[in-house]
Amino acid sequence: MNARFANRMNYVKPSAIRELLQYGADPNIISFGGGYPDPSIFPVEQLNYVYQSSITKNGRTALQYTVSNGIPRLREQIAQRMTRDGVPCSAENILVLQGGQQGLDLVAKMLIDRGDVIVTEGPTFLGALIAFNPYEPKYVSVPMDENGMDMDELERVLERQSGIKFLYTVPDFQNPTGVTLSLERRKRLVELANRYDFIVLEDSPYREVRYEGEAIPPIKSFDTEGRVIYLGSFSKILAPGLRLGWVVGSESLVQQLGLLKLAADTQCSTLNMSAVSEYLDTYDIDQHIASIREVYRRKKNIMLEAIRQSFPKSVKFTEPSGGMFTWLTFPEGFDAAQFMRERAVPEAKVAFVPGATFFPTSNKPNHARLSYATQSNDSIVKGIGALGDLLTAML
Ligand code: PMP
Repeated sequence: MNARFANRMNYVKPSAIRELLQYGADPNIISFGGGYPDPSIFPVEQLNYVYQSSITKNGRTALQYTVSNGIPRLREQIAQRMTRDGVPCSAENILVLQGGQQGLDLVAKMLIDRGDVIVTEGPTFLGALIAFNPYEPKYVSVPMDENGMDMDELERVLERQSGIKFLYTVPDFQNPTGVTLSLERRKRLVELANRYDFIVLEDSPYREVRYEGEAIPPIKSFDTEGRVIYLGSFSKILAPGLRLGWVVGSESLVQQLGLLKLAADTQCSTLNMSAVSEYLDTYDIDQHIASIREVYRRKKNIMLEAIRQSFPKSVKFTEPSGGMFTWLTFPEGFDAAQFMRERAVPEAKVAFVPGATFFPTSNKPNHARLSYATQSNDSIVKGIGALGDLLTAML
């Protein structure tokens, strides 16, 4: 049978990252491609305890349907953590999500009509493009430097192009570049959003995985008109398999998103929400996050040191203060996808994500994303050394 798909299926394609998973599964290849957290830091015993106790203490409730916005206690706990982080809010401002990824889909569904213009960083998170594409937006991408999105360029875009619906940004340790948006630019972004009347979608799953320097307040903390929607996630601070994240927004926006959540999947798993809520009541998650930071800080240092030692100077790399990624810039004319396919995988036995896939508008071929989160310290040294040998011979 030839299924007559909806037009939007023209914009639903397998991503470069899915294709890369084949390398991740090959034990002979060191893959810096995937963005999986290091599983050795999952709090397995504590989660075992809270799942059991959620069922023994409250099984009849924990296994029942609940309200689509999420169980009230977890929403309160999230609101308290967000308030402490500079975003004063209450449970009514929180919608619990099936991971931050669901927020990208629901916000796109709420805001985008075909042809609407949205702004992203260039490069941006591939999962966001995958979520937005079926709603058929047009993209404007604004370049970044070491302080995040270039606000002068954004202002030029806003002057040129009227009717922009929303701007998507990953301000903390961005995926894919590892770059953080500076304080001044966060404030200026909110001013521009107020002046040009658009919504800001602030997606910050790595925010708490900062291992150097002072935290910069969320963009949402400067929001004066309820036009910033914040997305958070338990994936990087507990475990991604829980599939739990959250939205913080004005009550009216959260209400609209709640209606879409009801249509999409009714609610998140009551049991998962109960267990995470009990985890937050029983254990000190901040202490757990401190241990995650330690692990990634060490891995980041190992990877950057190996890059410094073995890569030719013509290859530039970012120095993230948190998160899981560094972003490579090769000399102009270098094709990172071809390099990976023809040299890095067959000869060095190393995989990464070629950068072109992260650009919504222009395909810049001379970049790559490396994750230091998943590989062991030894594999990082070995893999980067092998890549460095190849690059030194080539460049
Ligand atoms: N946003 C960004 C920038 C991410 O890197 C990720 C995870 N790779 C997500 C959102 C989604 O994460 P989750 O759905 O697991 O919360």
